[in-house]
Amino acid sequence: MKALIIGGGIAGPTTAMALQKAGIDSVVYESHPGGADGVGVFLTLGSNGIDALRAIGADAPAVAVGFPTPAIDMVSTTGKALGRVRTSRPDGDITSRTLKRADLYRAIRDEAQRRGIRIEHGKRLIDAQDTGDGVRAVFADGGEEYGDLLIGCDGLYSTVRGLIDPAAPAPTYSGLIGLGGYTRGVPVNAPTGSYRMMFGKRAFFGYVPAPDGEVWWFANVPHPAEPAPRELENINSEQWRHQLTSLFAEDTGPAAALIRAAHEITPAGPMHALLTLPTWHRGRMIVIGDAAHAPSPTSGQGASLSIEDAVELAKALRDQSTIEGAFTAYEALRRPRVERIAKQAARSNSNKAAGPAGRIVRDLLMPLVLPRLANGEQSRLTYGHHIDWDPRPSQ
Ligand SMILES: Cc1cc2nc3c(=O)[nH]c(=O)nc-3n(C[C@H](O)[C@H](O)[C@H](O)COP(=O)(O)OP(=O)(O)OC[C@H]3O[C@@H](n4cnc5c(N)ncnc54)[C@H](O)[C@@H]3O)c2cc1C
Repeated sequence: MKALIIGGGIAGPTTAMALQKAGIDSVVYESHPGGADGVGVFLTLGSNGIDALRAIGADAPAVAVGFPTPAIDMVSTTGKALGRVRTSRPDGDITSRTLKRADLYRAIRDEAQRRGIRIEHGKRLIDAQDTGDGVRAVFADGGEEYGDLLIGCDGLYSTVRGLIDPAAPAPTYSGLIGLGGYTRGVPVNAPTGSYRMMFGKRAFFGYVPAPDGEVWWFANVPHPAEPAPRELENINSEQWRHQLTSLFAEDTGPAAALIRAAHEITPAGPMHALLTLPTWHRGRMIVIGDAAHAPSPTSGQGASLSIEDAVELAKALRDQSTIEGAFTAYEALRRPRVERIAKQAARSNSNKAAGPAGRIVRDLLMPLVLPRLANGEQSRLTYGHHIDWDPRPSQ
């Protein structure tokens, strides 16, 4: 069996490694000419994502490029503690890690190539057909490829999603703009590796001290109308510095100082999510990762869920006798989990975008609600998720 994998971000090369372990050949086709390295942005790889990489023996390279992140402390605009989210497996065996997105891409891609997986760059899929006994993929450079199945790992703005179901919903705008930056020389009151996140008066702010003393931070700015395609590109980093500094000027904490002193401010982008996609697969084609379900970046789970998807899909293809049967079993396993996490993140977004009255209610309720969410069942379900590569079910 040969799989055509579309997209060389996080899910693509991970799927190829998992398929290889399941005895299935694949080739990864990535549209970017030189790799899909996201510029500047950092993210948290959850203990569940690390656990999924561990199932295929590929966790070490990703772990090596990040630093441990055991917890997130939430505070109000006045600096009042609202609660703590533990971001590690409850048994303490795996701690989540914070890393630059580009470093995670590179670590996963290099590990896949080290295992002999072919990744072809500059190959943008524009069309694909299920021919009954196989799949045909057509690329923008005029090339064609044939395989037994096609796996769309082509991210939030997936082409494969629309080829499977032309009526598939598009991602929705969350009402927030996200951006971030890096600062040295501003002392902060948070333990190395742990996040402090603040519901400010006018926007949301989070920061994490890296082990080398640099502080990595991000801001989510409410912006009810979705920005026009090039609107944000016309705002340069000095203009953002000015705007963000004034947005956080009235809040307690280091947000304004960190922004003022930042040596790098990363490009701003509208935050989108894809909460539910009715059709994940048709015939020999399927979408996984952000292409199928994208929780807003607020969840801190998009990358981890994409990695879990990759491993679970390979297991299903290993264990089921038909491709269709594998896709059906995979969807039944994955859909409840990914949709629960996406809905949770959507609720968190509406807290971030709350107006003055909503903020008062939120700050009163958060200390009551958060500990239950953060340390109880929800946290265990999200961060404690474990994938066993073996055993196979009895045939
Ligand atoms: C600002 C920000 C912060 C985030 N923070 C977190 C976080 O803290 N934790 C977390 O887990 N997640 C976070 N995420 C989300 C995370 O980055 C995604 O969920 C994850 O990258 C999804 O992986 P993927 O492989 O499905 O898609 P991607 O990583 O987007 O990869 C898709 C790949 O497909 C390629 N491609 C697209 N179309 C085609 C085509 N037609 N043909 C060939 N190739 C194609 C793209 O070039 C890309 O390389 C964040 C995202 C953003 C934007």
